[in-house]
Amino acid sequence: MKNNKERIDKLEAEQIIPREDFKELIGTYTPEESEYIGKRANFVREKYYGRDVYMRGLIEFTNYCRNDCYYCGIRRSNRNAVRYRLSEEQILDCCDAGYSLGFRTFVLQGGEDPYYTDERLAGIVRAIRRRFPDAAITLSVGERSRESYQTLYDAGADRYLLRHETANPDHYRILHPEELSLENRKQCLRNLKEIGYQTGAGFMVGSPGQTIDYIADDLFFLKELQPEMVGIGPFIPHHDTPFRNEKSGTCELTVFLMAVIRLMLPDVLLPATTALGTIDPNGRERGIQYGGNVVMPNLSPANVRGKYLLYDNKICTGDEAAECVACMAKRMERIGYRTVVSRGDKAGFCRP
Ligand code: SAH
Repeated sequence: MKNNKERIDKLEAEQIIPREDFKELIGTYTPEESEYIGKRANFVREKYYGRDVYMRGLIEFTNYCRNDCYYCGIRRSNRNAVRYRLSEEQILDCCDAGYSLGFRTFVLQGGEDPYYTDERLAGIVRAIRRRFPDAAITLSVGERSRESYQTLYDAGADRYLLRHETANPDHYRILHPEELSLENRKQCLRNLKEIGYQTGAGFMVGSPGQTIDYIADDLFFLKELQPEMVGIGPFIPHHDTPFRNEKSGTCELTVFLMAVIRLMLPDVLLPATTALGTIDPNGRERGIQYGGNVVMPNLSPANVRGKYLLYDNKICTGDEAAECVACMAKRMERIGYRTVVSRGDKAGFCRP
């Protein structure tokens, strides 16, 4: 292929292009070519999902973590993080509030907090399932055993978000301490898929040491895994981590890669993340205009909002859930989209 427009057209037609073409495209695209891929991604998204943007209610229920990822503000070595965890009752209260606002997906995210044994976490999932039979339950609590994932699935969880962070083992080593491995992360993702979860993978854009080659590895990994959801967002340094002096990823490259992912996995659920909104005041809107179709307003109680800090300058830490919802709806309407609060499963996906 001779030019980037041809590469984009081929990617749309065949949902894959050779590694050299990915590298050329990502390394040399112009602002006009970025606009072009955005339009194509938007076209494809509209084919499957119209102009609907799914809202998920995010509940950040613990910031205790046994891991020490170099990029993350709630890593165990950060003595300055003010730790909290929500009780089952507090989590259910968040769901109640979210349900009244119309949410039919709850995303429970947290650090890898050993307090939440299978028994405790499955109990919470069962309680949510019982109280809100028509809502989807998404978990994002890191690496656990296959048996644990199965127990949580049987308790009623439908979806699981576990970003692979980087698909390249050398890069994985730059981002994580020795005790964590890419192999285990990938195995977790395969287990989740096999169990029957709608599974989300993804990576940070512009994380320290990331190269175009590594991004190509991420894209091929996603193509192979065929996740139902893909979460990507810019890396943003946190002042209490070893990466405090590293540069942030850009909004430009993040939205460009969102469009690439939309063309590769046409019916994937693709959020415009909070990190994207943090790096650029218009980031989430731009992400939607580049093929995104999910946003995740925060439902966490106001008194813990400011404590779940993975990176610096996180937005919306002072707002009430209802304000976040209204603000998001208005933002999406302004650019010609409609926020919807239905379950929003992946097109055609149904629990076996
Ligand atoms: N403990 C869970 C949830 C992690 S938090 C897990 O391991 O999956 C969700 C995501 O936030 C992470 O997967 C990571 O990609 C992202 N994240 C963490 N630190 C970040 C930073 N400094 N900048 C941007 N994103 C970050």
